[in-house]
Amino acid sequence: MTAITAAVVRAKGGPWSLEALELDEPRDDEVLVRIKAVGICHTDLSIRDQYLPLRLPIVLGHEGAGVVERVGARVKALQPGDHVVLAPASCGACGNCQSGLQVYCEQFLPLNIGLRRPDGSATIRAAEGKVHGAFFGQSSFATFSLVHERCAIKVPRDVPLELLGPLGCGIQAGAGTILNALRPRAGATLAVFGAGSVGLSAVMAARLVGCTTIVAVDLQESRLQLARELGASHALDNASGNAVDEIRQLTAGRGVDYALEATALPTVIRQAFDCLATPGVCAVLGLARQGTEVSLDINTLGNGRTVRGVTEGESVARTFIPTLIELWRQGRFPFDRLIRQYDFADINQAAADMVSGATLKPVLRMP
Ligand SMILES: [Zn+2]
Ligand SMILES: [Zn+2]
Repeated sequence: MTAITAAVVRAKGGPWSLEALELDEPRDDEVLVRIKAVGICHTDLSIRDQYLPLRLPIVLGHEGAGVVERVGARVKALQPGDHVVLAPASCGACGNCQSGLQVYCEQFLPLNIGLRRPDGSATIRAAEGKVHGAFFGQSSFATFSLVHERCAIKVPRDVPLELLGPLGCGIQAGAGTILNALRPRAGATLAVFGAGSVGLSAVMAARLVGCTTIVAVDLQESRLQLARELGASHALDNASGNAVDEIRQLTAGRGVDYALEATALPTVIRQAFDCLATPGVCAVLGLARQGTEVSLDINTLGNGRTVRGVTEGESVARTFIPTLIELWRQGRFPFDRLIRQYDFADINQAAADMVSGATLKPVLRMP
């Protein structure tokens, strides 16, 4: 057993409270990671607020980065002292995993929100009662995390670990949707709805691959300004609700080749679809309250248009996260500009700042 301090949500809406808990010893194929820093993602808030109703009390956190403390007997690729970023869990054996689509692992839900190991055992123990762990295979709002070796992505030691956790979810989701899923050609046109950390990661990636018209759409001027600095050719305030018309004007009436929707709001998804060229592809990234529906005019689906969901940027984390780090090192993917660091104890403030929009991507530093 390893004594840990973890942020626990005990009731719908929070708050998080820091509690002393115990973490199981690593099994043969597991790794114990001393968490250095962890990002907060909207999915953590959705579960805290029970829009996505997982069992409470729970240790959330799925953008962890840290240092390997101990490894199980059969772990070959990692050793104590290695720096790692934690990625979502996958089985490694199903057809999707075997073909590089582990983000669509057939066991994705049980492994990531089953809150137990595949054999049903719990990873976290509390002095009294039960606290659920193994969230996204990691529950990294904690000083230590226990993960399957597949989830621990080795990264270079000379890069600041405090920055890297969000590469495991939000940032790879935005960048990967461009670089892995949509793969726009140089000269393509793109609109990004929602200029938060996911949308702005997509803006940076779109600039990288040579998209020439990159339209960021949001309601907050500070985000739109940052979008311009990170590569958006145009930034539209959607307060008027006229984004579709404005995007058509910017593209000589044609619309955009690609739209990326990161708000999970039905009216905005509709706008993202309606601003497409023919043919065009709209990627939908966000998660909404269970049962949320979106409507489309069937006639606008003609002309070869596509709406598709994309999870975690369809990334193979083991190669994609090191790629993003190298692009950052070269100054071509400045994702650090999205991040504001907080002490772990200030997790509730960090989450509030994320909700208000004052902070795009909070990262909690462990003591
Ligand atoms: Zn996430
Ligand atoms: Zn699988």
